[in-house]
Amino acid sequence: MDTNHKLARNSRVAIIGAGITGLSAAYYLQKQRPDLRISVLEASPRAGGILQTICQNGFLIERGPDMFITREPEALELCEEIGFADQLIKTNTTNRGAYLIHRGKLEKMPSGWTMMTPTNLWSIARTRLLSKRGKLRVLRELFTRRRTDTSDESLASFTRRRLGQEAFDNIIQPLIGGIYTADPEKLSMNATLKTFVDMERDEGGLIRGGLKQLKNRKSDAGGSGARYSMFVTPKDGMQSFTDAIVNALPANTIQYGVKVTGLQPVEDVLSVTVEGESAVRHYDKIILATSSQITAQLLKKEFPELSNSVGQIPLAGASVLSMGYTRKNVDHPLDAFGIVSPIKENRPLIAISISSQKFAGRAPDGHVLFRIFIGGALQPELLELADEKLIQSTREQLKDLLGVNGEPLFTDIARWTNTMPQYHVGHVELVDSIEEQLKSIPGLELAGNAYRGVGIPLCVRSGKQAAERIINGTKC
Ligand SMILES: Cc1cc2nc3c(=O)[nH]c(=O)nc-3n(C[C@H](O)[C@H](O)[C@H](O)COP(=O)(O)OP(=O)(O)OC[C@H]3O[C@@H](n4cnc5c(N)ncnc54)[C@H](O)[C@@H]3O)c2cc1C
Repeated sequence: MDTNHKLARNSRVAIIGAGITGLSAAYYLQKQRPDLRISVLEASPRAGGILQTICQNGFLIERGPDMFITREPEALELCEEIGFADQLIKTNTTNRGAYLIHRGKLEKMPSGWTMMTPTNLWSIARTRLLSKRGKLRVLRELFTRRRTDTSDESLASFTRRRLGQEAFDNIIQPLIGGIYTADPEKLSMNATLKTFVDMERDEGGLIRGGLKQLKNRKSDAGGSGARYSMFVTPKDGMQSFTDAIVNALPANTIQYGVKVTGLQPVEDVLSVTVEGESAVRHYDKIILATSSQITAQLLKKEFPELSNSVGQIPLAGASVLSMGYTRKNVDHPLDAFGIVSPIKENRPLIAISISSQKFAGRAPDGHVLFRIFIGGALQPELLELADEKLIQSTREQLKDLLGVNGEPLFTDIARWTNTMPQYHVGHVELVDSIEEQLKSIPGLELAGNAYRGVGIPLCVRSGKQAAERIINGTKC
């Protein structure tokens, strides 16, 4: 039965981009409206976008993301819908935690400190990451008045106000700035870390809020117990997830090697131009599931105002080096999932992830897989380094920090230029205005990591919601 009154049967829908966002949009569209003629137009010869897994020398290497969070449920729900949930594995239970580099040495993250919430006062008292003064300043958070102004604020400003400069420099900048490959002086609290803004407002502070969360979690644990861990990954790698979505779509839904160069309104429909094709293609509805800068480019000619707004979401990049070693060539006990590097340590490094510690099946027995992140918004010049220089400087870091000796068994370099959207202060208002402008363009929807979240579950949500808006004829 056709329950839809808004979108005619057999309407033509194009989704531009077959990353996780575009694939999610395609899946939910065809699920609810199998009558639609859906085409996913993908410039490259493969689906998955940033999700890329390769195998080399018996190692399973993630070139892009290596896991997703289950607290935001959309990615997990999609796995369940397509019969893929049994492929998910959880993070290892041993050797969790992270090291921070401090004055050239590795220091363990104080226990009980999750993201922005210190909850173990004893571990704060003992950590070498903060001076006596820095520790007292963190503890003063318990008595720091809450901010009454509700306007957006940067991560740097929020942290200095609540926890002090030292905690910002030595813990929060590397820990959180690293996740977003962002400049914390510009990163919007409201767009990325709203939970902590709410915590300050509702609980009076981060320590109080963190302690309350801890208590709630303990009482939850006494109940039925969570079915999934906080982070999961497919046992065969992230790309097996997007491959599974492709397999759940009707055959030939995705057209590879189709690079869209622009779109135009033509009477009641939208048309797209494709590189190398003289005739335009007509569609009743279009979802643009590309990065902010590509979307802005595609809209530039016919929708200059919208293009200008989307173009205000800048992108940063990072290089990810994957290096495999035999365990005997690594002196360090590797008793953590990774290392993050504060910018003030002045190293050519955002973070080192010890992939083989995080998940099973990432390296053969007796071997170690490292993933090293370089560049980001704070060190963009490192993205220009030639392969040889990049490998040399990374090997020096591995040797210095973890006692890694000898030649790597292999090195893979993934260069992700212009891929990580930067949610600057005012981002939420910017996206509100983009959604407002979209209301006057029938047939067009935008989805992807540029708008309301960069993590994979939020990309799935964005694609799903765009599909629902198309089906229901609603806007935003
Ligand atoms: C190095 C790295 C590590 C990350 N780690 C994690 C992690 O561990 N967990 C997590 O949750 N998130 C992580 N993220 C974020 C997450 O991976 C991304 O936000 C998400 O994959 C974006 O998906 P997308 O579909 O919106 O965009 P993309 O994956 O960029 O897909 C866009 C697609 O559009 C295609 N395209 C571009 N232009 C055109 C055109 N003109 N015509 C047709 N097609 C076009 C591209 O080829 C691409 O396939 C990471 C990101 C990076 C870069």
